[in-house]
Amino acid sequence: MKEIIVFIEHRFSEILNNSYDALAFAYKWQSLRGGEISCLILTSEEKREIFNNLKDLANKIYLIKNKLLENYHPELYLKVIKDFLKEKENYLFVLGQTSNAYELASSLAIELSTPVITDINGIEKVNNEINFIRYFYGGKICGKINILDFNKKPFIVTIQSGSFKFEKRDIKSEIIEREANIDIEKNIEILGYEKEETGEIDITKSEIVIGIGRGLRDKKNLPMVEELAKKLKGVLAGSRPAIDAGWLTKDRQVGSSGKTIKPKLYLALGISGAFQHIVGIKNSDLIIAINKDPNAPIFSVSHYGIVEDLTKVVPALLKKL
Ligand SMILES: Cc1cc2nc3c(=O)[nH]c(=O)nc-3n(C[C@H](O)[C@H](O)[C@H](O)COP(=O)(O)OP(=O)(O)OC[C@H]3O[C@@H](n4cnc5c(N)ncnc54)[C@H](O)[C@@H]3O)c2cc1C
Repeated sequence: MKEIIVFIEHRFSEILNNSYDALAFAYKWQSLRGGEISCLILTSEEKREIFNNLKDLANKIYLIKNKLLENYHPELYLKVIKDFLKEKENYLFVLGQTSNAYELASSLAIELSTPVITDINGIEKVNNEINFIRYFYGGKICGKINILDFNKKPFIVTIQSGSFKFEKRDIKSEIIEREANIDIEKNIEILGYEKEETGEIDITKSEIVIGIGRGLRDKKNLPMVEELAKKLKGVLAGSRPAIDAGWLTKDRQVGSSGKTIKPKLYLALGISGAFQHIVGIKNSDLIIAINKDPNAPIFSVSHYGIVEDLTKVVPALLKKL
């Protein structure tokens, strides 16, 4: 049976949400294929308390410590994780999607001659085989991947954020601690990490979110949607083009390179529904989309949809509210 090892990424003494996505995947895998779940966390003695949040979530927690591992460093993390995995015979190494995880997963795959599948957003069991589901060609098609002899070989996966629902477990965890021996010459020096500036509003905490996309077309249409957000007692968020256009600040971006939200209501205005956006909203309780294109993919994840020009619908809504 495979050991399912989940890489726990942390920053500023907090576990990143993507690690919980990876754990949620691990639980799903375990329900289909069995196996013990372990968490792997690299940190310093001073920051060891980070692992407290993991207690009860996995069968084993590996804590590998060294002052140099306090923050992510590509060469050191690669070396330490590679050495750790080399001691294992059969494992599934799971990483939640971040740019660091991409880097680690691909480098580990090369160093360990191990298959890797990135961006997984679903798995299914068919006749005792496991298919991994992910998008290809920028979300134009959804495909299934099968690893031959997957039960016998180790392999690596990265998990698209928001794809698996994390539910807290209550597992008695065994803690395994060790000091890392780091004897490599570094080519990269990390000068430090800085916290990104966050605005006054945290879109992940709001129960009503109004998402605007490129379909808003012009900044002059912003006051209309701002008024709608105010009347609905919600907050404005946006797709990447809305952020790139400067209509909203970066902390309002929803999606794979933005935030994952789970509001009671998500109102998508002029958003096509690219998978990079959908992963950030799909766990919302209610999704309503307004888009003038009846074939826009957003309608496939919406509970209600209005096929119309938003510059007609929003003023009509404002009159009613
Ligand atoms: C690595 C990577 C990461 C990414 N991360 C993110 C991310 O985090 N978040 C994200 O959102 N995107 C992300 N993207 C971009 C993503 O692929 C899409 O390009 C983006 O989500 C599209 O935004 P949109 O729906 O606003 O624009 P479009 O795809 O251009 O859609 C605009 C929609 O508005 C509709 N429309 C136009 N005019 C009107 C009107 N008057 N009334 C009603 N509807 C109208 C159109 O029919 C269309 O469906 C990422 C891409 C990559 C490659």
